[in-house]
Amino acid sequence: MYTVEWHGEDWLDRYDRRGDCCPRKATIGVCEAMPPAQQAVTLLHEVCHAIEHASATCGEKLEPEQAALLYSGGLAMVWRDNPGLVRWLIDSLGVVHG
Ligand SMILES: [Zn+2]
Repeated sequence: MYTVEWHGEDWLDRYDRRGDCCPRKATIGVCEAMPPAQQAVTLLHEVCHAIEHASATCGEKLEPEQAALLYSGGLAMVWRDNPGLVRWLIDSLGVVHG
């Protein structure tokens, strides 16, 4: 289970990165000094790295079909286990639902 750590603008200046994923500490870092939609995309990017690290194929170059299988399965699991994350993504991306 990963913990999300929020970082300020100093982090962006110091490391010149918007997010990071540390499988050893099980943390995902996201810079909060960005528009919400960009925070959402960054968090999704780091979730993909977490999925990759949890996979037996980590470090291997995947064929498109293998990659699609890995990320669809991984994201479905993350979604299922983190309904709060899905709600946060919907809000942050400004999804308009009727
Ligand atoms: Zn990356």
